[in-house]
Amino acid sequence: MRVCRIAPRKPAIVSDHVEPAPSLSSRVSRRALLGTAALLAAGCTGKQPPAREGVPVGDKSWFTRLVPAAEVEAAGTQQYLQLMQQAGQQHALLPALHPQVLRLRAIAARLIPFAPQWNPRAEQWRWEVNVIASPQLNAFCMPGGKIVFFYGILDKLKLSDDEVAMVMGHEIAHALREHARERLAKTGTTRLAVGAVSTLLGFGNVGDTLLHMGGQLLTLTFSREDESEADLVGMELAARAGYDPAASVSLWQKMAQAGQGAPAAFLSTHPSGNTRIADLQRNLPRVAGLYARAPKPVERFEVAAPLAPPQPASAPGPGA
Ligand SMILES: [Zn+2]
Repeated sequence: MRVCRIAPRKPAIVSDHVEPAPSLSSRVSRRALLGTAALLAAGCTGKQPPAREGVPVGDKSWFTRLVPAAEVEAAGTQQYLQLMQQAGQQHALLPALHPQVLRLRAIAARLIPFAPQWNPRAEQWRWEVNVIASPQLNAFCMPGGKIVFFYGILDKLKLSDDEVAMVMGHEIAHALREHARERLAKTGTTRLAVGAVSTLLGFGNVGDTLLHMGGQLLTLTFSREDESEADLVGMELAARAGYDPAASVSLWQKMAQAGQGAPAAFLSTHPSGNTRIADLQRNLPRVAGLYARAPKPVERFEVAAPLAPPQPASAPGPGA
């Protein structure tokens, strides 16, 4: 069941709990009330009650407007395709029927329907999910909806389905909230500030700029605020999709433990401190109702088996 958003098209959705149909005047005043509450939640007034059920997240950064979304999504797709090509050449792309690929695609299929609530462009995204047979502990979702997991995060952390959904939700949230777009815009404006000749603000050669920057999309480091936002939005996406939000806490506890060994790339950009875990814990009640009412996944998947050592490209096949 969908629950109302900040500005529901039909105010009646507000009463998805049992209530008689409101009169016109009460609907109008309810709409006014909703509007006010939405403004308060989106604005800078701090601790106002949330106007919608779910996590409290404000407007997208103003900076995102400096770079066209379509350009960032195109760069994301291009970078993703390059990575897929490289992985394919190195026989490191798991086949479509691999149990973990099936698993991730099944989980993504449950999360994706809730994405357009956060970004209407996501309705048109051509979502893809792939797994790279690499021991690295990493995962990302490119602007435009291209999701990649590195096998290491699945098997080293022995992620449950709920925890996979939290990682995936987090990464999807970065894409939906356009954190890369914000980061690129900020990079561009910083350059302008130091006097570099650039037409970024005029969008003159922004395509070239992003083409050049495409490789950076994979290695972007988001701000602590972006990370926190991705945690919360991701947790809500997963809860609506029927995954236990408490898994966000166990996930980051596992991350923290993994970080005590050799620090992985993902952990250097995603510090798993007590603050992060406490933030998630504090927000669990905000998504508890969504999770309670969400249909739960019927199919549950096995935890990833240890990654098999890579086969040399020239190795003969079985029976050859
Ligand atoms: Zn992140």
